[in-house]
Amino acid sequence: MSHDEFPTDEPAVVTCGLPYANGDLHIGHLRGYIGADAFNRALETLGQDSIYVCGSDMHGTPVAVNAEQQGVDPEDFALEWHEQYEETFPKFNVDFDNYGHTHDETNTELTQEIVRTLDDEGYIYEKEIQVAYDPEADQYLPDRYVEGTCPYCGAKARGDECDEGCQRHLEPGEVEDPTSTITGNPAEYRERSHKFFEVSEFTDFLTEFLDGLEGTSNARNQPRQWIEDGLQDWCITRDMDWGIDYPSDETADGDDLVLYVWVDAPIEYISSTKQYSERVGADEYDWEQVWTGDGEIMHIIGRDIIQHHAIFWPAMLEGAGYNKPRGIAATGFITINGKGLSTSRNRAIWAKEYLEEGFHPDLLRYYLTTTGGLQQDVDFSWDAFQEKVNGELVGTVGNFWYRSLLFAYRNYEGTPETDVSEEVRERIEGAIGDVRESVNDYSMRGVGQAATQLAQFGNEYIQRNEPWKLTDDEPERAAQVIRDCVQLAKAVGVLLEPITPDKSQDLWAQIGEDGDVADAHLEDALEAPPRSFDEPGELFEKIEDDRVVELTEKLEERVDAATDGDDETDDAAETESDDTAGDESGGMTDTDDLEALADDRIGFDDFQDLDIRVGRIETAEGIEGADDLARLEVDIGFETRQIVAGIKQLHDLEELPGTKCVLLANMEKAELFGVESNGMILAAGEEADLLTTHGDAAVGEKIK
Ligand SMILES: [Zn+2]
Repeated sequence: MSHDEFPTDEPAVVTCGLPYANGDLHIGHLRGYIGADAFNRALETLGQDSIYVCGSDMHGTPVAVNAEQQGVDPEDFALEWHEQYEETFPKFNVDFDNYGHTHDETNTELTQEIVRTLDDEGYIYEKEIQVAYDPEADQYLPDRYVEGTCPYCGAKARGDECDEGCQRHLEPGEVEDPTSTITGNPAEYRERSHKFFEVSEFTDFLTEFLDGLEGTSNARNQPRQWIEDGLQDWCITRDMDWGIDYPSDETADGDDLVLYVWVDAPIEYISSTKQYSERVGADEYDWEQVWTGDGEIMHIIGRDIIQHHAIFWPAMLEGAGYNKPRGIAATGFITINGKGLSTSRNRAIWAKEYLEEGFHPDLLRYYLTTTGGLQQDVDFSWDAFQEKVNGELVGTVGNFWYRSLLFAYRNYEGTPETDVSEEVRERIEGAIGDVRESVNDYSMRGVGQAATQLAQFGNEYIQRNEPWKLTDDEPERAAQVIRDCVQLAKAVGVLLEPITPDKSQDLWAQIGEDGDVADAHLEDALEAPPRSFDEPGELFEKIEDDRVVELTEKLEERVDAATDGDDETDDAAETESDDTAGDESGGMTDTDDLEALADDRIGFDDFQDLDIRVGRIETAEGIEGADDLARLEVDIGFETRQIVAGIKQLHDLEELPGTKCVLLANMEKAELFGVESNGMILAAGEEADLLTTHGDAAVGEKIK
């Protein structure tokens, strides 16, 4: 199924993953909210009837755990953050048409209604499952109250999500070696009755849905893999107090259950649309036309919540008789100075901090939307920020605006009275086409580039035609060039508005236009500007080098202070970092535990000097007196080698014989604890995860 190009005749809604109401916003969050805001504004400049809605995610264990730690009621706790978000977003020109929260009446009622419908349609059943339980705390352990090992990839995982490994959603009871996050004790599994949503019934529907889905490719491809692996039904209730009550009778266990946070969170997209519609009137915007008719629904999310949006959510919508999303765009993460953003290590740029440093929000909006494609991770450093701002906004856009408008003002007191030239008209039409195409590709980077390249053309145009040399001898020609430049300046302002709304508005006013540039459509970029305007001012300011040095140092000192100078072994604080809302909007990645990539490159010859071979471990035994060392005998095809490896504590030695391994065969011989080591076994990471081969390479084969 393919969709008509934007703009369509149907009303549209753009949403962004809800922030968990439990911590300060940072640029990891802002990337998603700004990107979605820019996308919505861009749709409007195309002439699409579109709104942008969101809300705070009040429920779930991230909020409950943090509220508990502070000894406050989860509702009060979450409401406080909600109010703070409501204040913060507009400061970044993130302009929601409605911003609700998941605990309000609209969402509570709608959630219960949808669950009741799914139940009536026969998609919900009850099942006995194993639920983690902490005997000391005398409490069941839903989701983030429990941690353990992912059963799919073996990574350390939260109760409901393999956040550090394969990113899969985990069902209650799935996490292995469960540990309570309340007491740190090992958890027991106890049998409980819970409600399940029959996602497996929707396999065919979802396959077709994904084929027609627009947005980023990761939002289609990952779910296709999950479908291929076989969809599991989804447990939609939890043993806790904080949340929306399951809407019907109690379960067989006689307990009240609340709905899993991922049931009511996406329903807020509908609720928030409904609230908007009720406020402005259905004549102006009809939420039912969008959600139960043929409206255009686009979700911008972080890539860690693809499964919730591309599997569970469309299945719920289908089962309850609602319209499905047209597009899902899943963004990459933000890194800081090449390392993973980490709130516990204070390696973040906080929303508040950015504003306090006195930077205009449009600079960050431009940086975050144009630095990488949506799917890519974007690195933030003050250096790169400076380079982008000084190069593109100050040097290209700002410079073109100021020099052309100033020239126009001084010589013509505004826009010269002549028509725009054919060359310039065509160039602007080309840029409009690029913007149109980029929006249809969900590429805000493309929108920004089209605008900046148009400004670049303007600079070249003015340089090439040198109007300052023409005013005396060829006044008509001079007037033509400047007339063209004012048109180009206006066009750049219109095209850039989705990304830099304030700066575009300033430009709009400078050329004497009335009203809001936000109401302008792409075609207005070709409309003649007003005849006269006042003396213009410069709209962008260069960021000086010493400012960047100061900000970089500040950030480094902060990270050092938070980690006590030790940036690598701060695991205790990690729990705190992870539930600070980041994940819902693509906040963070865990590369901060990784060693930095090497800068120095080596030649192929150097690599060939390494004789790396496939081996098979024949025997493995601990070396007496050495805490960590094991003596291995490894068959490498030609011979059997004795190798000493530091894996005694990390592996069950009895299980190793027969295991295929990879070793550096021409490693210098060494003697450890009196035992000669003739080669080196290759292993990954602190846990010495032994390398092996994916297929059936024979023992003795060379790695190349
Ligand atoms: Zn996993």
